[in-house]
This record gives sequence, C-alpha cells and structure tokens, in this order.
Amino acid sequence: MEYDVVVVGGGAAGLSAGMMLGRSRRRVAVIDAGAPRNAPATHLHGFLSRDGASPAELLAAGRAEVMGYGGEVITGRVRGIEHDGECRFVVRLDGGPELTTRGVLVATGLRDELPDLPGLRARWGNDVLHCPYCHGFEVRDAPIGVLGGDNRPFTLHQAALVRQWSADVVFFPNRIVLTDEERERLTARGIRIVDGAVTRLDVREDRLHGVELADGRTVPRAAVFVGPRFVPHDELLTGLGCQVGENGWVSTDATGRTSVPGVWAAGNVVDSPAQLITAAGAGSAAAVALNHHLLAEDVERAVTNYRAAGVVV
Ligand SMILES: Cc1cc2nc3c(=O)[nH]c(=O)nc-3n(C[C@H](O)[C@H](O)[C@H](O)COP(=O)(O)OP(=O)(O)OC[C@H]3O[C@@H](n4cnc5c(N)ncnc54)[C@H](O)[C@@H]3O)c2cc1C
Repeated sequence: MEYDVVVVGGGAAGLSAGMMLGRSRRRVAVIDAGAPRNAPATHLHGFLSRDGASPAELLAAGRAEVMGYGGEVITGRVRGIEHDGECRFVVRLDGGPELTTRGVLVATGLRDELPDLPGLRARWGNDVLHCPYCHGFEVRDAPIGVLGGDNRPFTLHQAALVRQWSADVVFFPNRIVLTDEERERLTARGIRIVDGAVTRLDVREDRLHGVELADGRTVPRAAVFVGPRFVPHDELLTGLGCQVGENGWVSTDATGRTSVPGVWAAGNVVDSPAQLITAAGAGSAAAVALNHHLLAEDVERAVTNYRAAGVVV
C-alpha cells in the first residue's frame, strides 16, 4: 500500500491534517489507536462551533470529513516507522500490516502523568481538571482546590489563574515547598493556603466532596485543579532521528517540520499547551506544508522525466 502521506494519530491534529490532504487529492491514511487525550471528559469547550460537544462527536465528524475526501481512517497502533534511505517511509502497524509513504505526519498527542493520590485518576476530566480555559467556566464561583504536585511552575501559575473563575480558591501545596514570596503573592491574590500532606480525594455519590489531609481534616471542594507532568508520545519521531530541543521536546518549525526531511509533527506531541482548536490548526498547517514538500518532489521528478524522454506527467 503506497500513500502520499501517512498520518499517525487521529485526534484533532491528525484528522485536520487528513482532511486537508484529502482535499488536496493526496492519497492519505490516518492511523489511530483510539485514545485521545480528552476522552475522560464528557464535553469539550472553546472550539468555535463545537463548544459543548462530546469528544467522541468531534472525532466522528472529523473521521467522516477525512473519508468524505477519499482519505482512509485505519484503527490500529503504529509501532515503528523506518526511512528506506530514499524518499520512502515504511510504517509498521501492530499485528503486521505495513504501509509505504512519501511523507509522515506524527500527531500522537501526549500522556498526562497525574499526582499519585487515591481517588484522583477516576475523577480526571470530571471534577479533577487541569485547564481552566477548557473547564473553568463550568466550575465558576464554586469552591475550587489547586493541588501541588510534580509540575511546580505550572501549578503555581494555575493557582493564580483559576482565581479568575472563583473567589473561593484553596491552594494545597502538598509536595511543593513555597517560598515566603510565593506565599505572599498567593495570599495577595485572595487564595487561601492549606498546608499539610494531602492523602486522598473524598468522593461521594459520584461527586467530589473534598480534599482530605493527613491530619484528618477534609476541606470541602467541588473541583480540584492539578498540574500533570506532560509526557509526549514522541517515540516514533525520536526513532526516526528527529532533533530534540533543550526542553526535551522534539523541535519543529512553525509548520511542524521536523529535522528529518519528509517528517512533520503537530498537536500535543510537540506542543503541550495546544488545545483542540490549536491542535487542529497545527494539523492543517502541517498538511499544507507537507503537501508543498511533496509538490517540490513532484515537479523535480517531472522535469527529470521531461528532459530524459520528453514525457509530460
Ligand atoms: C481531561 C481533558 C479535557 C480536555 N478538554 C479540552 C477542552 O474542553 N477543550 C480543548 O480545547 N482542549 C481540551 N483538552 C486538551 C485536548 O485534549 C488536546 O488539545 C487535544 O487532545 C490535542 O489533540 P492531538 O490531536 O494533538 O492529540 P490527541 O487528541 O491526544 O490524539 C492523539 C491520537 O493519537 C493516537 N495515537 C497515539 N500513539 C499512536 C500510535 N503509535 N499509533 C496510532 N495512533 C496513536 C491516540 O490514541 C489518540 O487518538 C483536554 C485535555 C484533557 C486531558
């Protein structure tokens, strides 16, 4: 099976790219393992014209649009991509199938590593949140907690930020040791600081009730924000030899071009703050740039053939 482009990952970024490449009359396949990052959430927000839809609805619409332009959507997991040393890549799927392609776009997203706390993972995307732009409005004016974890700078920023949505914000430093200046800044911002180790989330009747501390206190909270550690699913890119920047993430230019010719990346795999609409935009921009890369190859080949045999293709 020979493709112009294989897109790995069928979330907002990958499907947008697939649609744009299909519309450009490229032979494109989008391969997706079916675990988009926002799957635990019941609704998505901030996506113009799709605000309030379910994550599954957005993806179903995207898949239909890709297929409507002749793109293929394949359910599966890519386990490796190899460069054949010329202008072709071999994309290997779990279970055996192999696709060959002239270009690759990796849009495999990232993994959120959450603080290890009993009850927390089960509430993720529901009343345990990380992005106020996605879900802050839905918990406006509610008693909100912000939980200190491994991602210190993100969490401190988050505490100051969510205060914009509610006047009742408690910061639980938990594993974070605050400086006097940080304490002052949070207090000045109207955020209550509750010290002590957090032991678990108190959940009753499928709702967050509060945050339990080691000394036995429970601080009632309706929602808790956490700062996950963002881990990109970038093994396919690093396996191809794509350059990694000082921040530990694969480097791309503004169009998603990596250091390896013919390999592009878009969405959360290279950009942790990307939301659905920006991931979709990045996928679309990468598709256009990748199409131009293929066009340059097409023109070169045409000129070579024309000079050799006067053949116009
Ligand atoms: C709980 C939660 C709620 C959120 N809510 C919102 C919101 O309301 N609004 C908003 O704008 N943003 C929201 N976000 C952020 C949003 O999830 C991301 O912006 C978006 O998912 C990024 O899209 P993406 O295409 O880069 O990655 P993803 O959507 O994660 O898609 C990546 C896809 O690649 C697949 N994949 C990975 N590896 C492979 C492989 N080797 N082979 C094949 N397929 C593979 C995965 O299974 C997945 O389907 C939320 C995030 C979380 C965690």
